[in-house]
Amino acid sequence: MTGDMATVTGNRGLVIEEPLIFEQGSPAKCGVDLPDPADKPDRLGGLARSGAIGLPGLSEPEVVRHYTRLSQKNYAIDAGFYPLGSCTMKHNPRLNERMARLPGFADLHPFQPQATVQGALAVMHHLSDWLLGLTGMEAVALSPAAGAHGELCGMQAVRAALDARGEDHRRTVLVPDSAHGTNPATAALCGFKVRGIPGDATGRVDVAAFKAALDDTVAGVMLTNPNTCGLFERDMVELAEAVHAAGAYFYLDGANFNAIVGRVKIADLGVDAMHINLHKTFSTPHGGGGPGAGPTVLSAALAPFAPLPHVVAEGDGVRLIEHIEGDMQPFGRMKGFHGQFGVFVRALSYMMSLGRDGLRQASGDAVLNANYLMARLGDTLTASFEGPCMHEALFDDRFLKGTGVSTLDFAKAMIDEGFHPMTMYFPLVVHGAMLMEPTETESRETLDAFCDAVLALAAKARAGDAAFFTEAPRHTPRRRLDETKAARTPVLRWEPPAPARAAE
Ligand SMILES: *Cc1c(COP(=O)(O)O)cnc(C)c1O
Repeated sequence: MTGDMATVTGNRGLVIEEPLIFEQGSPAKCGVDLPDPADKPDRLGGLARSGAIGLPGLSEPEVVRHYTRLSQKNYAIDAGFYPLGSCTMKHNPRLNERMARLPGFADLHPFQPQATVQGALAVMHHLSDWLLGLTGMEAVALSPAAGAHGELCGMQAVRAALDARGEDHRRTVLVPDSAHGTNPATAALCGFKVRGIPGDATGRVDVAAFKAALDDTVAGVMLTNPNTCGLFERDMVELAEAVHAAGAYFYLDGANFNAIVGRVKIADLGVDAMHINLHKTFSTPHGGGGPGAGPTVLSAALAPFAPLPHVVAEGDGVRLIEHIEGDMQPFGRMKGFHGQFGVFVRALSYMMSLGRDGLRQASGDAVLNANYLMARLGDTLTASFEGPCMHEALFDDRFLKGTGVSTLDFAKAMIDEGFHPMTMYFPLVVHGAMLMEPTETESRETLDAFCDAVLALAAKARAGDAAFFTEAPRHTPRRRLDETKAARTPVLRWEPPAPARAAE
């Protein structure tokens, strides 16, 4: 911290400058009083440690403060608006958390006999029913642990189906240029070659280019709808028919399901597999690494290859099928045990408390809120494509042309103003992308405060105040970081300073 922003301590307000835990305390200190161990014979065969253990020595209040201060430096949806496009960062009703913490759910063990966990299996069965009802699909695999894992599940099912048909020469997967990076990564991980398909001038997949790429080497296509430009792919049925006529399978990336829940029946689009990010659409705290869940719905063509386990209603109860029965041809398992059960409980709680009408209203409100941003910002920022958007509004950096301010600079200045930035530089199909997804849970007041800040910053950039942006953020604990250096040469290990080492 330099200039008139500096304080003598380095702390600002009551925001404390926090060293690493290893830089605090001293190895000689201990948070608990334990009697010295009695003189016992060494049973370690001469392998006992000879040097200092190197753990930080702190008291309990020091440890509590350290982690509390770190947590206060973390931004979260519970702290404020989180307009990160493609991520669906919406409020997570506390009711869902209450349900997931019920001892009958939270204290289960996956090895318990099925007769003792009938309630939990019923939750999984109800959740399956809801997901099949909302999509119209034939089967659902609950176990994938996240969206990307669901993609892997769907594409493994495609591979298994092709192998069963004896068509292992089909090894190409078509992916639009605007796709989330997980799509080509999934295809590659399943042993497929990825072929990119360009978009058209409206921001949707180029139908002619798509059809021209379909031949008998194509295993499948992976499309996102609404797509990552925030637009509905209108030609889904025509595309699906062409895919099937070419003998391939149609994977739909369902990460943006929040925009169409209760409005579009996925099966009607001709889809063979789609993952659903429960942590996005059906409300689970996410970001920071999970946990999430990516149940994958399958068409009749792919259902026989669904991974184990299966959950089936039988008589008065529910049975978990862990081994092949009848004509099942599972490609394997996605995960140990049964999936992210706590996320299942949250999703079912969310669905049952909103009901079908509530879910339909939520998707409508999510689209309405995004179009509110589009309407308020669209004359100042440059919208990448014409017309109303779905659940997210995409702008590019043409409005910053000639100002010396980049999308990155603009985002850094937003942090100073108290707003988490939108998604930047994704999708790759527009220059300097700014992708904003407000979700249905934000109020008009919050959206207005956000728009006011963005419009004021845009005016400042146009007025020629580039330094205001290139020096931002000014009010964060670490100001502007060298992100390239951080990514290329990350410092992941703390080394004790030289004198301390000498003293060991
Ligand atoms: C979030 C997202 C994914 C990946 O989902 P994870 O749960 O993060 O693995 C895939 N595709 C799109 C379009 C997404 O937004």
